[in-house]
Amino acid sequence: MNIIFFGPQTSGKGTQTERLSEKLDIPVLRSGDILRNKKTTDDDEGREIASFIDVGKLIPDEMMNNIIKEELQKEAYKNGVIFDGYPRNLFQAKHLEEMINVDRAIFLDVPDALVLKRMAARRICSKCRAVYNLSSNPPKEEGKCNKCQGDLTQRSDDTEAAIAVRLNIYHNITEPLVNYYKEQGKLLHIDGTKSIEDVHEEILKHLTADA
Ligand SMILES: [Zn+2]
Repeated sequence: MNIIFFGPQTSGKGTQTERLSEKLDIPVLRSGDILRNKKTTDDDEGREIASFIDVGKLIPDEMMNNIIKEELQKEAYKNGVIFDGYPRNLFQAKHLEEMINVDRAIFLDVPDALVLKRMAARRICSKCRAVYNLSSNPPKEEGKCNKCQGDLTQRSDDTEAAIAVRLNIYHNITEPLVNYYKEQGKLLHIDGTKSIEDVHEEILKHLTADA
């Protein structure tokens, strides 16, 4: 089964893809992780990726598409894949369609006001980048990562102005994906305001009904 996840920041994509991956035994392909790994490689590709990421720019579509195409060749994805962070727009979605059949596109819907509120409570592990939320998903020990004991910090670009800019980009570019997958009958519109557990159960319920 090939599944896409999309939704605004703080919609819980990272957590939900991880939970679903464990449940279905299908790996998550996180475009952000792939880019970070490649970026640290000292070659032309790594340097080119760094030239975008380091100034806060998105990787151009053609380049991103090629990176995903290469990644999908891996044996690990032969029984299915859960995408987190790709496709980001219609152009990428159409390209993905040429490579694999998308079974379900899961849209974690969260209103802007709640995104802003959640961002303010967001903490990220400085070592493994695990994401926490002080109200909905707090760490077991204050200020420490559950997984690696790394220090939890607030991202420097989590200011309200920066978030508003990102939300705007998100609405303009990512939301057309909602209509695109809706027209294909592949969209699962999930209420992302519910708890992590409820959202997970809701997704499972729909996927089980598909099978
Ligand atoms: Zn950690």
